[in-house]
Amino acid sequence: MSENTIPSSLPLRNDLIGEEPYGAPQLDVPVCLNVNENPYPPNPDVIDTIVERVREIAPTLNRYPDREHIKLRQAFSDYLAKESGARLDISQLWGANGSNEIMLQLFQAFGGPGRTALSCDPTYSMYPEYARDTFTGWKVVHRNADFTLDVDRTIEAINDIKPSMVLLTSPNNPTGTPLPLEDTERLLAACEQADVAGAVPGVHPILVIDEAYVEFRNSGTPSAVTLINKHENLAVSRTMSKAFAYAGARVGYLAASKGIIDSVRIVRMPYHLSAVTQAVALAAFEHTDEQLSRVAHLREVRDQTAAWLKRQTYKGVPLEVADSESNFLLFGGHFDNRERIFQELLDRGILIRVVGPDGWLRVCMGTDDEMARFREALAEVLRIVE
Ligand code: PMP
Repeated sequence: MSENTIPSSLPLRNDLIGEEPYGAPQLDVPVCLNVNENPYPPNPDVIDTIVERVREIAPTLNRYPDREHIKLRQAFSDYLAKESGARLDISQLWGANGSNEIMLQLFQAFGGPGRTALSCDPTYSMYPEYARDTFTGWKVVHRNADFTLDVDRTIEAINDIKPSMVLLTSPNNPTGTPLPLEDTERLLAACEQADVAGAVPGVHPILVIDEAYVEFRNSGTPSAVTLINKHENLAVSRTMSKAFAYAGARVGYLAASKGIIDSVRIVRMPYHLSAVTQAVALAAFEHTDEQLSRVAHLREVRDQTAAWLKRQTYKGVPLEVADSESNFLLFGGHFDNRERIFQELLDRGILIRVVGPDGWLRVCMGTDDEMARFREALAEVLRIVE
């Protein structure tokens, strides 16, 4: 796509002038390891169910869809009970077009002029854009050198800044770092005590945990979903895009107290989730095990790739690899020209991502064949650029 050519005669909001649409390059290359997708397409029997379910609802497309998407919320509930061991009522669940839309709805309901959202960077680069789009202030606390969260400093910032939303990602993107449940509990306790700037006493910040990649966590790491029944200010955002291998369907969901869900219901567009999207999501939930069948393998590939990367050197120094419980790895640490490494890989048909702190690059896990091609290309590139 070409760069924006927006005539200055258009009354674009002042704060949007000069801004570019967000998004990683969508390039037609043989090996795409840049947007943390699941590389495995749906099985033929899943495809058959998708087609069947869409055919079933097709005769109803003259009508608006179920605004409350009740069947789908039940499916989220059943899935989370199985996946995380937490049984939530459908009044504690909510779906949207990707977790991007979930997050925007949270900002619309709990952010806004005069309010601030607090996060810990490096983290997902879309968050400041949701803040911008909803006129919400944006503040960050820096993570530790190993990308773990500095919980004490984050709690201090909650008390100083008095945000209305605290937004944390677990596992974090682009680093893969999980947030231990004890830390989530400490942060929740801090939020439950803290004030919100400009609000009456007794109003406390919400804590949003973005668990887009959580199914890739190592066994034994519990999900923040298990805390929802005890905390009315906790919201956990999930998606079918990653482990569930359904990025193209655009389905994200929110697990939270009924109060948070009801708040989001105020700002949602009417009928935001199309009948086709609902049918397609429900079809995939009929095949949960198949959709998730490659997660364990991708976890192994991640660990093997991390070990391999650590054996590689750049300018005589071994590569660093951030500890990841996700389907991607942040690696390098001392690339003094990461754009060149990115470009050399691209010239060999491998698309990864220039993201995160200077000196680092991110690669997401592909099929075995794609990873072999990545390793071969990177080994060659590291030799050339030395
Ligand atoms: N959260 C994080 C941390 C992500 O990395 C992404 C996608 N890259 C999303 C949310 C959004 O995913 P989706 O809208 O596809 O659910």
